[in-house]
Amino acid sequence: MLRLDLTRLEREGSIQIEARIPPDDPLWSDMEVTFAGPVQVRVRASRAGSGEIVVRGTMEAPLHQECRRCLEPVPGALSEEVTLVFLPVTEPGMEDDGETRLFEEGAGELDLGEALREEVILAIDPYVVCRPECKGLCPRCGANLNVETCGCTTEELDPRWNALRALKEE
Ligand SMILES: [Zn+2]
Ligand SMILES: [Zn+2]
Repeated sequence: MLRLDLTRLEREGSIQIEARIPPDDPLWSDMEVTFAGPVQVRVRASRAGSGEIVVRGTMEAPLHQECRRCLEPVPGALSEEVTLVFLPVTEPGMEDDGETRLFEEGAGELDLGEALREEVILAIDPYVVCRPECKGLCPRCGANLNVETCGCTTEELDPRWNALRALKEE
């Protein structure tokens, strides 16, 4: 699905790839965010004169995120332009270092999955808030302070207070 047929690329010069990757695809496992729907990938792969493969296009998906302060759902979307460049391995010892992506000329195909996953991780801010003035949850009782006030005092959480107490106990 996200594999680029190198033989066909050689023959046609460029290939349009469109894919809808389900939100529960193993490709997205162990990420900080979850998708609320399929990830729409639209890219065009082409072979540059110097030998590298350039993959350019867009990735779009609805996101399911939570406010980091109050844990309420925050609607959002991934909408990212991607440009991936893969260099052919021309000598042994060349390494994929995250900056430079490589492909084997004789491999027959190039799997774009891992590179796209990396782009998603870079594009999404996992620490969203529902609104800038969100008051979050009470650290003691867990009440959502946007909708209620709790009876907890914050005295004990004041670090100066702890420092004072530590002095007394010495
Ligand atoms: Zn919030
Ligand atoms: Zn409280």
